[in-house]
Amino acid sequence: MIESSCHCGAVRLEISRAPEEVTDCNCTLCRSYGVLWAYYSPKDVKVTGGATDIYMRGEKKTEFHRCKNCGCVTHWTAVDKTRDRMGVNARLMAPEVLARVRVRHLDGFDTWKFLD
Ligand SMILES: [Zn+2]
Repeated sequence: MIESSCHCGAVRLEISRAPEEVTDCNCTLCRSYGVLWAYYSPKDVKVTGGATDIYMRGEKKTEFHRCKNCGCVTHWTAVDKTRDRMGVNARLMAPEVLARVRVRHLDGFDTWKFLD
């Protein structure tokens, strides 16, 4: 189990295991946020603590959560709660956790293929 939190510590995430790889997506939103996504089943992640604000774009299928206090993007969840996938911002994980993972470069802006 690993833990991460936003900068101020209000929003905390307990995650069943460290990621093996994370995704650096170049779509307009991900590159604006500067996040690295680690993907999990919502069953493997517990979000506790402070309140988040939600941003949704376009088709409004995904809720992007950020800490109400410090503004860090912490995770995303699907609006459809039966979807067995969510993303956690791996930038908030400890540097030694992130140092061990492979970073994949996803062309989410155009082709939805990995560029590496
Ligand atoms: Zn915070």
